[in-house]
Amino acid sequence: MCDSCFSTEIVSFEDYQSFEKFDIELIQKIETNNNTFGLKVIENNSFYSGFSFQIVKCNSCGTVWWFSVPDNSWRGFFLKEENAKIKVTEFRKFDQRKRFVFVGLVTLLVLIVLIVLIVLIVLIVLIVLIVYLIIT
Ligand SMILES: [Zn+2]
Repeated sequence: MCDSCFSTEIVSFEDYQSFEKFDIELIQKIETNNNTFGLKVIENNSFYSGFSFQIVKCNSCGTVWWFSVPDNSWRGFFLKEENAKIKVTEFRKFDQRKRFVFVGLVTLLVLIVLIVLIVLIVLIVLIVLIVYLIIT
């Protein structure tokens, strides 16, 4: 438990209001500590696995926090560094799986369309052949 930073992590912000409320609280904590103890911004725009976030360190307890801002469907987070890395890695894996399924479905659809086209062409050729045989 540390009074200078936060006792609980935020895995994802419920809505934009809860994010704004937290953001104000965080800024207040950083400003009141005046960089001597407590929370201090280490890096404003850090990147990990394609994710951008702010790194905040607590000089009182040594905890390094990663702060990710919500963006559209992304709900953001405020997590200890080790847990943030796990979350981002898990999200990336899930994202890749989704992409894999999407590519698979598109390939299947293209194959089905091709098969339908071939069947149609064969049918047309057969009909033309039958009509030709009947006429002659
Ligand atoms: Zn702390």
